[in-house]
Amino acid sequence: MKLKYTEISTMAAILLFLNLFVLSFNAQSVVHSFTTPSDHDFSYMQIVNDAADLPLEDKYDYIVVGGGTAGCPLAATLSANYSVLVLERGSAPTAYPNVLSEEGFILNLMQEDDGKTTPAQRFLSEDGVANVRGRVLGGSSMINAGFYSNADREFYVNSGIEWDMDLVDKAYHWVENTVVLDHINGTKVGGSIFDEHGRRHGAVELLNRGNPKNLRVGVHATVDRIIFSSKGSSISAVGVIYNDSNGTSHRAFVRGKGEVILSAGAIGSPQLLLLSGVGPPSYLSSLKIPVVHPQPHTGNFMYDNPRNFINILSPFPIQPSTAKIAGITDQFYIEAFSSTPISTTPYTIYGDPAQQTKINSSFGLIIMKPKGPLSYGNLKLQSSSDVRIAPNVQFNYFAHPLDLARCVSGMKKIGDLLNTKSLKAFRGTKGYKFFGPTLPLNQTDDASFGQFCRDTVSSFWHYHGGCCRKDG
Ligand SMILES: Cc1cc2nc3c(=O)[nH]c(=O)nc-3n(C[C@H](O)[C@H](O)[C@H](O)COP(=O)(O)OP(=O)(O)OC[C@H]3O[C@@H](n4cnc5c(N)ncnc54)[C@H](O)[C@@H]3O)c2cc1C
Repeated sequence: MKLKYTEISTMAAILLFLNLFVLSFNAQSVVHSFTTPSDHDFSYMQIVNDAADLPLEDKYDYIVVGGGTAGCPLAATLSANYSVLVLERGSAPTAYPNVLSEEGFILNLMQEDDGKTTPAQRFLSEDGVANVRGRVLGGSSMINAGFYSNADREFYVNSGIEWDMDLVDKAYHWVENTVVLDHINGTKVGGSIFDEHGRRHGAVELLNRGNPKNLRVGVHATVDRIIFSSKGSSISAVGVIYNDSNGTSHRAFVRGKGEVILSAGAIGSPQLLLLSGVGPPSYLSSLKIPVVHPQPHTGNFMYDNPRNFINILSPFPIQPSTAKIAGITDQFYIEAFSSTPISTTPYTIYGDPAQQTKINSSFGLIIMKPKGPLSYGNLKLQSSSDVRIAPNVQFNYFAHPLDLARCVSGMKKIGDLLNTKSLKAFRGTKGYKFFGPTLPLNQTDDASFGQFCRDTVSSFWHYHGGCCRKDG
């Protein structure tokens, strides 16, 4: 069945109402029973070592750089048949208990960045938009909003890759059986990696599915360089150099046909490639980095999904919750979050990193993300030698007119929602009370909505790209 746009947007609105209803009155009622024991399973801690305790030189079949959302499941599956080393610059989650609960979501975003091991590493893009990246075993899945969703079939069809869909489905089930509450197919009710007790089950728990005899994880292991070897005209990655927290340098090499797998996230991965000499030759030469492999697109095609929102101060207390349901149209996505009063605004929720204000009442954020985006920017190294110095990233939000048009229609839809019966409960006697931006009054004034989108843009934290061409 193919739905018309109006039907889809109505569905989005209904789902949003449902979400707000759920958030305000019964935050846990959409949570489906968890198929595995809901307590945290810390078995993976038996294979976690501080990098300082790892040998100065060692060999493995596979080396996984970055123990994050992608790195942990890759390492676990490979360990069934091969020896695997995972190198993660952050700490084990047990060092920062806020990463283990839904309640901790906001607290992680509020925590000052110590520049070394705090799990949410802050950065400000060149666009002036505040952002964060994960720096902990389990990666950004340990600080994210926990909303889990499968890609729709169209994504696979349009990807240009021939997928074995049975394997894809198996992979989804493998993840879902370990860390995710039910994902209801074909609806906009997503799964959640938070269980009914508010415990976060991030990608780190997928390490429990690996073979502990074959799997070794080093934390506080900052990979400095990828080591390449060349044979004739072909080059291959044969190892890495990484530093432990004492500054001691270690080397790890791959055996035989083994591989180095780079899963250091959308910012860490291109940064490491550039530092290791894989990138645009003229750019690398300008930084005096020896060119190992010319790759014109490393550091280019950096995308981030813009987020625009309104924040309604609730006239009555509401339960805190991350997003559980997304309203999805063919132009934009709408989600809602809620929070109890907070004393300082969490970094990046409101876009303006300097804003630190008390919010005295419960509040609900209605958030909109345009589909796409089509706009992109780039990543440039700030240091040509030190991986610990974060690169500069620019995303050029709304540079593509379609991104702006989608934002305008999404925010207008939020304007429509404010006039519905379902949201009436959140209106006080004098109308809605907002914290932060308010929508333009004239629902037909596209120019003002466009300005609103530009002025209030923040990040949805879904930055991606940076390692290859736009279409490959
Ligand atoms: C606040 C926030 C909320 C989000 N909410 C959602 C959501 O609700 N739903 C959703 O689907 N997505 C959400 N996302 C996005 C999602 O979490 C990320 O897209 C995803 O986790 C990225 O996975 P990754 O494996 O590419 O990178 P990451 O999970 O970030 O892993 C990269 C890992 O590499 C490590 N690393 C980097 N450089 C080095 C180095 N030199 N040496 C060693 N280790 C290194 C990092 O410390 C990190 O642990 C959110 C993201 C954030 C930040």
